[in-house]
Amino acid sequence: MLKIYNTLSRTIEDFKPIKAPKVGMYSCGPTVYDYTHIGHLRTYVGNDILRRILENSGYDVTHVMNITDVGHLVSDEDSGEDKMEKGARESGRTVWEVAEFFERFFWQSVDAINIKRPNIVAKATDHIEEQIKLIHKLEKNGFTYQTEQAIYFDISKFTSYTKLSGQKLEEKETGARSDVVVDKQKKNPVDFALWFFTVGHFEGHSMRWPSPWGEGFPGWHIECSAMSMEYLGDSLDIHTGGIDHISVHHTNEIAQSEAATAKQFVKYWIHFGFLQVDGEKMSKSKKNFYRIDEITEKGFDPLALRYLFLTAHYRDKLNFTWESLQAAQNALNNLREEVRDWDQPDIGCAEFEQKFTEAVNNDLNMPQALAVLWDLVKSDYPTSAKAQTLLQMDKILGLGLEQYVGKKIRIPEEVQKLINQREQVRKAGDFKTSDKLRHQIKKLGFEIEDTPKGTNIKSVL
Ligand code: AMP
Ligand code: ZN
Repeated sequence: MLKIYNTLSRTIEDFKPIKAPKVGMYSCGPTVYDYTHIGHLRTYVGNDILRRILENSGYDVTHVMNITDVGHLVSDEDSGEDKMEKGARESGRTVWEVAEFFERFFWQSVDAINIKRPNIVAKATDHIEEQIKLIHKLEKNGFTYQTEQAIYFDISKFTSYTKLSGQKLEEKETGARSDVVVDKQKKNPVDFALWFFTVGHFEGHSMRWPSPWGEGFPGWHIECSAMSMEYLGDSLDIHTGGIDHISVHHTNEIAQSEAATAKQFVKYWIHFGFLQVDGEKMSKSKKNFYRIDEITEKGFDPLALRYLFLTAHYRDKLNFTWESLQAAQNALNNLREEVRDWDQPDIGCAEFEQKFTEAVNNDLNMPQALAVLWDLVKSDYPTSAKAQTLLQMDKILGLGLEQYVGKKIRIPEEVQKLINQREQVRKAGDFKTSDKLRHQIKKLGFEIEDTPKGTNIKSVL
C-alpha cells in the first residue's frame, strides 16, 4: 500500500482514496505570464511520478490542472503593475497573446521531460462563471465583504484558517502586510480578494468580465477552488503543488472551498520541495532560472534532468548545478548503453520488482527506487528478465527506456564505410583526417571510442 506524507496531518499516512478505485487529483498549474523554468518542472515531474504510481497500482486517476491565464495579484516588485499587463505592454502583444505564448512553451517543456499531460486542463478564463458562482455561495454563507476595490474573504469567519500551514495567525499577518495592492478598507491584512473591480488600482486592467457586483476579474485563489470542485466534486483525494503554496494559496483554497460546502476539501495535501540555485529558490523574480531549451542547447537530454530530479527525495530541496546534471546525463547514458545489448523482455525478476514497489510506496522514495534499478542492472539474472523488470520500473520512472532496451546498434552502411576509412587512416598515422572522420560519424548519430581493446561504436541517440 502507498504511504504518503500529508501536509495537513504532518505525518506519513496510508493512502486510502475516498471512493476507490477512483482517485481525483488536482495540481496547481502554471501562471502563464512568463517562461516555465526547470524549478517548476521539478514540481510537475513530482506530480507525474505520483500519478504514475497511482495508475500502476490500479487506481483510476483523473488528473486536473489549471492554467492561470488571468493576470492579477502577481504584481511587479518595482512598478506594482500586474505582470501580465506589463509583459504585454513591453512586448507589444495583447495579454491574451502573452498567455497563449507562454502556455505553449509550458506544454513544450512538459512534453520534453516526458510528463503525462493531465486528463483535464482548465483555464481560469474559461471558468469565470464557475468562479462567480462560488463567490456567490460564499457571500450567501456570510464569508465575504465588499470594498470599492474588491470583494474579500473574511478570514475571521473561518476558524480553522491556518490548519494547513500550522502557522500562528500573527505570523501570517506580518507576511500579508507586504501586499502591493493597498486597500485601506480591508478589515484584516490576511483577508484575500475573491473578485477585483476594474477601478482604482486596476482601472486599466485589460482582462475584465461582468459580475453581479460589478465589472472586474477574479482573485487568484478562487480559480483553483472553483475548477477543482467543478471537475472532481466537493472533496478531492489529492491536491498538489510546491511548498511555497502552503501558507497562502492552498490555505486560501481550503478556506474558500470549505466555507462554501461545509465539507472537507482535500484528503491528502502533497507538496514538493524547491529546486534551488546556490542555495536559493529558483524563481522568476530572482531571475536565477534556466529553461528546458537552455538545457538542450548545452547538449543535455531533458530526460537527464528528469533523472536528476529522481535522485533527490521529493520533499527535500535539490540544488541545481551543471555538474550534477552532467552526472545524471552520464548515468543515463551508461544505463542506455548497458540495456542495448539485452535480450528481448521475458519473465521478469519478482525480487527486484517487489523492492522497487516497496521503495516507491514508501512516500515516493525515488532515490531508493533508482538504487534498486542499478542493483537489477548489475545482477546475474538473464538479460531478458532484467529487460522485463526494467521496463516495468520505467512505467513509473518515465525515462523512455523502451527506446533502448534490446535495441542493439545497427550501423548503417554509410557509417560503416566511414569507420573503415578512419581505421585505415589511423593505421597510417593520419590523425587529422581520423578526427575529421570521427566528427562526420558523430553527425550521423554515432560516437567512436578508441580503447586498448579496440574501437567501440556507440549511438549518441
Ligand atoms: P507558478 O507558475 O509560480 O505558480 O508555479 C507553478 C508551480 O511550480 C507551483 O506549484 C510552484 O509551487 C512550483 N514551483 C515554483 N518554483 C519552484 C521551484 N524553484 N522548485 C520547485 N517547484 C517550484
Ligand atoms: Zn492553485
